[in-house]
Amino acid sequence: MEEALKEVQNRARPIAETERVPLTRALGRVLAEDLAALCDHPDVDNTAVDGYAVRAEDTRDASSESPARLRRIGESPAGRPFPGRVGPGEAVAIYTGAPLPEGADAVIAVEDTREEEGWVYVLKPASAKDIRPKGDDFKKGEVLLKKGDLLTPGRIGLAAAMGHAELPVVRRPRVGILSTGDEVIEPGEPLPEGGVYNSNSYAVGALVEEAGGEPVYLGRVDDTLEALKKKLAAAGKLDLILTSGGVSMGEYDLVRKLLEEEGEIFFWKIKQRPGGPPIFARLGETLVFGLPGNPVSAMVVFFLYGRPMLFKMLGRTDAPYRRIKVTTADFFKGAGEKVAFRRAVLDYDPEAGFIARSVGNQSSGVIRSMAFGDALVIVPAGRHLEAGEPAFAIPFRPENLGLPGLH
Ligand code: AMP
Ligand code: MG
Repeated sequence: MEEALKEVQNRARPIAETERVPLTRALGRVLAEDLAALCDHPDVDNTAVDGYAVRAEDTRDASSESPARLRRIGESPAGRPFPGRVGPGEAVAIYTGAPLPEGADAVIAVEDTREEEGWVYVLKPASAKDIRPKGDDFKKGEVLLKKGDLLTPGRIGLAAAMGHAELPVVRRPRVGILSTGDEVIEPGEPLPEGGVYNSNSYAVGALVEEAGGEPVYLGRVDDTLEALKKKLAAAGKLDLILTSGGVSMGEYDLVRKLLEEEGEIFFWKIKQRPGGPPIFARLGETLVFGLPGNPVSAMVVFFLYGRPMLFKMLGRTDAPYRRIKVTTADFFKGAGEKVAFRRAVLDYDPEAGFIARSVGNQSSGVIRSMAFGDALVIVPAGRHLEAGEPAFAIPFRPENLGLPGLH
């Protein structure tokens, strides 16, 4: 497993092409350059509350019994700064986000005041705590976002606040997806006896998209060398081709045969279950990763090896997946000398942490285990996990868990 991961990461080449996208198209993309702020934020001292801009010394002894009485000389709404100066005994009405007028060094919230006939009564001492100082969030020229950063909603907001309308991002890797098998039928067609709907193309395509790639759906192909060659030759320029099926020992496992005959094979088979027989090779200029045909195996293998490959191509600096500590709630069967990845539903218990329940049927043909499982529980080689044991698991969507990275 470690060797396979190293191999895919070493063979994957970072994509050099970049493009500029508007903020509205930036979600999930990866920054291609460091990004510096074009302004200070805030660009001047401003107020965090509605109230009055005053001189702190004028309100030092204010209380509700003996309020400080200040003359209201004007207002400073957000975006329309007060043009004058706050002198001794004076106050300017001010609204959240508005610049602090000259002369003022404190703000008093409207709740702590009373206004009558042009006079402001301040009921307690005003302070600077509700002033947001110029550059409090960031300063002009500061590099806040780095090449390789994934663009999340928060970072898109930050980039906008920094003054950028368009962002330089890495071109998405184009990933061809081809399913093989005489029995494999496209959804929407009638299902002949012994047929199976093509689920791999769509599950793996979605995983590719989730990892930041652009799936290029190449459809399905019969189990003949000619058909396979023709499809691959017509695929156009791609950064990676993912096939499914046809990589085992069978007579009709032609992906493996084709790659053996015409490509350069980097490895075949990984000591794990599900997902034992994947093949990784180069065909001409293009990297080809042959995923197993079993739906669970195809997804698990893409998740563990294909996703890191795409991260490498994208130059993403976040971890492709993470490992968390769990306690098993069920028995998880091992796979002899191979590492087993069993599908589990995760629950969180404030005392015990994450609890992993088996999804039930763990057969690699049972797609629902991927649809309703949250994570892969790792069963180390040479053993089983009993209920109540500590173990590690890899959640499919760790972004929201705030947990430490594995890689
Ligand atoms: P193979 O690796 O080609 O021997 O296929 C292993 C199992 O996965 C067989 O039961 C296939 O019918 C099934 N399978 C292969 N390709 C797909 C696919 N695209 N969608 C769903 N099941 C598939
Ligand atoms: Mg097959």
